[in-house]
Amino acid sequence: MSQKAALQTQALCVFRWSYPIFYMFDRAMAYCCRTESQPITDSDIQQYGAKVFSEKMFFRERRREMIFDQRHKDCHSCWSIEDSGVKSPRLEDFFTTQLRKVGEVRPQENLTEFLRRSRDRLVSGQIDDSLLTTAAVDILEIVLSNACGFKCVYCNEFYSSSWAAEKRAAQRLHANYRDKSRDPQLEALFYEWVEANARDLVKRLGYIGGEPIAIEAFYESLERMREIFEKVPARARKPELCITTNLCPPDQQFERFTQMIPKMETRFRWVVQVSMESLGPRAEYIRYGTNWPKLERNLHRLLRDFPNVEVVILPTLNLLALPSLPEFLSYLRDLHRQYGCSLELVQNMVTLPRALSPLSAPKEFAVPLRRSIAMLTEWAEELAPVAQFDQPSENEVVLRSRMQASHWRSYAKYLDGVAQRIEMNPSANAASPTGNSHDQQLQLWRELRQELEFWDLRRGTSAVKAIPELAEIWRVAQDGRRSMESGADKGANR
Ligand code: SF4
Repeated sequence: MSQKAALQTQALCVFRWSYPIFYMFDRAMAYCCRTESQPITDSDIQQYGAKVFSEKMFFRERRREMIFDQRHKDCHSCWSIEDSGVKSPRLEDFFTTQLRKVGEVRPQENLTEFLRRSRDRLVSGQIDDSLLTTAAVDILEIVLSNACGFKCVYCNEFYSSSWAAEKRAAQRLHANYRDKSRDPQLEALFYEWVEANARDLVKRLGYIGGEPIAIEAFYESLERMREIFEKVPARARKPELCITTNLCPPDQQFERFTQMIPKMETRFRWVVQVSMESLGPRAEYIRYGTNWPKLERNLHRLLRDFPNVEVVILPTLNLLALPSLPEFLSYLRDLHRQYGCSLELVQNMVTLPRALSPLSAPKEFAVPLRRSIAMLTEWAEELAPVAQFDQPSENEVVLRSRMQASHWRSYAKYLDGVAQRIEMNPSANAASPTGNSHDQQLQLWRELRQELEFWDLRRGTSAVKAIPELAEIWRVAQDGRRSMESGADKGANR
């Protein structure tokens, strides 16, 4: 398995040139999903026209800083990860490759030579250089509206209109939340820019919602992209067209989506990322709005009727989903066996709210994780034993088995890191827990219980009925609440 090479600089990252994101309903854009979006104003449009998507001053300044190895706070998520000693998603490895494609890096030039030459040419605050205005697009993402029929427990009003409606009714809507709309003039400029700057380079075109399949703008955008990409011959290796979906849109919308699949295949390879991390009634609780029979039906339909579509599973690991993880993975293994397809698992987990993060789980929740790791390792070994993995083969079945075995192994490795962290947590069963870390843990479990009970009461649902393994946390959170209250009383009486 390939290891990422050690980074050579403190701040350089190819995503600042290669990963533009257009917020279609928000007159905004960003480079890299971990940075804040920047508004596109009327005066920006007047000043830059269609080039606003790569030349806006904010992006030029951030690129210049990177060339000089200076960190800007816009990338704080990476700096905080790196400062804690862990590898961040910052990507320096493909910097020269990507910028060679647009002529900014010379054919034989290495990173050190390139940086020396670039710093010489960017002295004295130079900000109009082509190096700072170019886009070397690799991933292009379009963020659609928040229209979505789901209220996943770890989501919020910014990504789900259903959450927005319920939070508004409960008077809990975030103060910064605004309903948003499209800007036809800006969209026209965007497609002009795509044709001139992204079409011939992009490797992945992604759509994010809300639920893209249920959003009208998604279909309009697909048609525009089809026109743009069909003006030139299909590439030998077609770019990916990737959507992230809950697979439960209204039936007529799903039909409409399936009709778009062959139309787009003239120029793209479809990747459908299915958001799911549990099954049946558990999924219907965690990803509230799930209609499990419908999700299953649509998933089987994709796997059965559209063999050219790559289905990828996107589990958002969270505390509630951990107890049933082995059953969820067994379900995926059955799908793999039934359809012979490769099913990749994307590594993703809840970080906020902290109470829902898998890392906030009591240590006994590591047991199903350990079971999952053992299962994945065993399945990988059955498909492609480690000892034979590197032996050359042209056999299609062997190669496909190896690919799936790699998916199982890499997810097992990821789960192992999560399990190790959870094993350091206190137990929910401890008779009389003590210590600072346990107090913090109790506080998180108490927040979890309060939050879920608030929505349960409104919806007539029950977290403990849906996820019985929460019972111990609920008990200890209740006890914890009493002891915290009595502790506060004692303090006040002193
Ligand atoms: S340094 Fe991190 S946040 Fe900044 S562009 Fe790169 S990946 Fe994104």
